[in-house]
Amino acid sequence: MSISSLLGSRGCLFTFHRVAPSALWRTLPNRDFYIDLEFFDRLLTYLRRTGWTFVTIDEALRRAGCADSEDRYVNFSVDDGYRDTYELVVPLFRRHGVPITLYVTTGIPDGAIPLWWAGLEETLLRRDRVVVDNHTIDVGTAAAKRRAYGQIERAWSAATNGYEAFCAQNDIDPEALHWRHAISWQMLAECDDPLVEIGFHGAMHSRLSALQRSAALAELRDGRERLMQMIGVEARHFAFPYGRAGFSSAATTRTGIIRRRPDAFQLPRNTLNGGHQNLALIELHLNGFTGAAARVLGRV
Ligand SMILES: [Zn+2]
Repeated sequence: MSISSLLGSRGCLFTFHRVAPSALWRTLPNRDFYIDLEFFDRLLTYLRRTGWTFVTIDEALRRAGCADSEDRYVNFSVDDGYRDTYELVVPLFRRHGVPITLYVTTGIPDGAIPLWWAGLEETLLRRDRVVVDNHTIDVGTAAAKRRAYGQIERAWSAATNGYEAFCAQNDIDPEALHWRHAISWQMLAECDDPLVEIGFHGAMHSRLSALQRSAALAELRDGRERLMQMIGVEARHFAFPYGRAGFSSAATTRTGIIRRRPDAFQLPRNTLNGGHQNLALIELHLNGFTGAAARVLGRV
């Protein structure tokens, strides 16, 4: 008997944000945020070869409710709503005949959320020098670009986000930049396919626990209505942007695997880190070891 059959029925939800072709991935200042497209291709082939079934969140919940002892299933969800979801992710999953869940933050196709992380990264990538707080810094090498991204991101997270001033000082049009990285409503409408499940990830990507109750409910209700209005989708599943209003499930940022009859409103999801291009590490997620380790270390 193999170790994996001893573990019994289990489901594993993976989440990620962006993908990039290998050649681009290597140069990206914030590359942990992206999965290398060629690695993803190999991962999907590997999972199929090793007997995993690919499912939607709907199907994951159904299977978890009537777990058969040998059942092993995996779901992939991509969060927020970037242009590469439309250009690279959905085509990759279609090619493999594998379902994908899109947890959409409606403020992104609405153009209401400044994608400062994408704007900062693209600017660092394209230029040898950038201006930050009126100081010019050299970012001529890939290492310098990565270092600058980390430092600026930390500074903007700790204090006021300086993206607006950064755009002005570096002569960037934030609107044009937004649409080079955001998914549009038109692109989302074109993703319509039985393999594509649309879920919801908040209207403005707000931390719900930091909002007043009425504002939190509005964040959920308004965005969900917007999905219906713009692409005719009634989202049944929700993923917390960080850490219930008519949904059938909610996925968290906690790691782990699904056993029998999980709490549908506290589903664990395992974030794929772009730097971890290693099938052995993926196996740790699939076997629930990363979730167990995180619990021991008190990270959940
Ligand atoms: Zn998100």
